[in-house]
Amino acid sequence: MSLIILDTCVNCDVCEPVCPNKAISLGEVYYVIDPALCTECVGHFDNPQCVEVCPVECIPHDPDHVESHEQLMLKYEHLMAKAAP
Ligand code: SF4
Ligand code: SF4
Repeated sequence: MSLIILDTCVNCDVCEPVCPNKAISLGEVYYVIDPALCTECVGHFDNPQCVEVCPVECIPHDPDHVESHEQLMLKYEHLMAKAAP
C-alpha cells in the first residue's frame, strides 16, 4: 500500500528530496504523497525513505491504498519503464 502524510506534518521538507519516485510534493497546506507514484520504496530501498527521515513520524500506511509487495513491485517496474529514455 502507499503511504499517507498526516496533518501533523510540519512542512520541514526533508522527505521530498529522498523519495526515489518523486511521489512527494507540497500540497495546499502540507506535504502530500501521490499514491500512483509511491511504491513504499519497493524496488529502490528496503525501507520507506520518507518514514526514516520524518522527524514527527506522521507518515503511516494509507488504508485506502492497500497493495501487496508484488503489486508494489509491478508498480515500480511500470514507473521505471515509463521513466526510461
Ligand atoms: S515510501 Fe518511498 S516511494 Fe513512497 S512516498 Fe515515501 S519515499 Fe516516496
Ligand atoms: S518529513 Fe514529515 S514533517 Fe517533514 S515535510 Fe515530510 S511528512 Fe512533513
